[in-house]
Amino acid sequence: MEIYGKKFTVIGIARSGIAAAKKLTELGGEVFLSDNKPQEKIENAEILKKNFACEFGGHSQKVLQADKIIVSPGVPLSLPILKQAQASGIELLSEIELGFRLKSPDSKIICVTGSNGKSTTVSLIHHILLTCGYHSILGGNIGTPFTAFPIEKPGIDFIVLELSSFQLELVKYFKADAAIILNITPDHLDRYKDFEHYARTKFNIFQNMEKNDLAVMNLDDETIRRLSEQIKAGRKWFSLEHESDAWRNGNNLLVGKDAYKTAEISIAGPHNMMNCLAALLATARYTAGRQAQVCQALKTFASLPHRLEYVTTSKGIRFINDSKATNTDAVKYALLSFTEGVHIILGGSDKGEDYSILLPYLQRENVHTYLIGATRTRMQAAFAGALEYEMCQDMETAMKLAYSRAAAGEVILLSPACASYDAFRNYLHRGDTFRKIAEDIAHEI
Ligand code: ADP
Repeated sequence: MEIYGKKFTVIGIARSGIAAAKKLTELGGEVFLSDNKPQEKIENAEILKKNFACEFGGHSQKVLQADKIIVSPGVPLSLPILKQAQASGIELLSEIELGFRLKSPDSKIICVTGSNGKSTTVSLIHHILLTCGYHSILGGNIGTPFTAFPIEKPGIDFIVLELSSFQLELVKYFKADAAIILNITPDHLDRYKDFEHYARTKFNIFQNMEKNDLAVMNLDDETIRRLSEQIKAGRKWFSLEHESDAWRNGNNLLVGKDAYKTAEISIAGPHNMMNCLAALLATARYTAGRQAQVCQALKTFASLPHRLEYVTTSKGIRFINDSKATNTDAVKYALLSFTEGVHIILGGSDKGEDYSILLPYLQRENVHTYLIGATRTRMQAAFAGALEYEMCQDMETAMKLAYSRAAAGEVILLSPACASYDAFRNYLHRGDTFRKIAEDIAHEI
């Protein structure tokens, strides 16, 4: 793709937009940044103004003075200025599509999408590749944006990317060597027309893949099975329930001829077994003959914070932070990961999900439910008559009430099923707040 001397507008000034702007400038492009947020809400606005032409607080017609427009993942394609751009024939690109067009041809891409488990799975894939001696970089929706790396230079063996459905909305030529769809369950229904629209957007990950590329999919997921027929890439399936290319058989994960003992894997729970199966399948062709290193990688993988993260124990009661559980499916797997008594704190800002899906898991005799946040009244309506629950003012009140009721050996679990923006900056802030309150409670004894 020609950059030198060309004009680019970047819409949406967040991490990936800034990374794209820097890369385009480095390669001789002329960049204009545009964001609808006022200047006070943009981090480092003064520095940005020194380096790029910028506008804040809205999108003017200047946006259209460009050869191409890079659209950040948070920005809806229905924005009037983007409709105008498309009508005048200006190409809209995601930062992921830009990265693909700029990357060195010898770097392979392995990418992961799904409603849940993306961050865990990409981190594990990256760890497996590093342990096997490859030069791998990890980016996309997790950590560093794709274009922030020196991807145009040779020497990177693997680019491992976490892709959200937002990032897959503008796929044109983007193609991975191996791509995974972990699961498709209701999420982000506030952004998509309906579940089908959301699910089909995830399948854009396979759009340009060919016979020799590898599509890794979850056999236990009905939506994935149904939509898989359109794929041209070679297909491999993983399952917890049925014999397939990679599957769980008792206490082993079987991947082709290789077996991995689940007891020797650092992460636990049925959802994490699925993540491991997917990671092992996607990397198998590159790790052949290195089973010892792969075993080592599974053993040494450090689980990520805010995903069923152990915080502290007080009076025998364990505090677990699962702030990243922002939809009902993640909460279902959180509850399936414990057999002991659980005091679960649910609620946050709404993404339009049907919370009654959780009832079978919350109705277990040793599960106690505490509702907080903007969604608590919608949850109350979904659970009315079918479940006992406590309505709480905020997270601290819920934690203290749960602590006063919990017995030794039980768990206090923050697994909200919702986004965090009603009371927190993001899920990290929510998880950190939970951790701090838990530590304070433990110190008060
Ligand atoms: P993502 O990047 O897709 O949000 P994470 O790995 O950050 O995924 O995990 C997000 C939440 O989903 C956490 O609560 C985690 O425990 C849960 N989770 C992880 N893997 C899965 C899976 N395969 N299925 C369902 N839930 C999962």
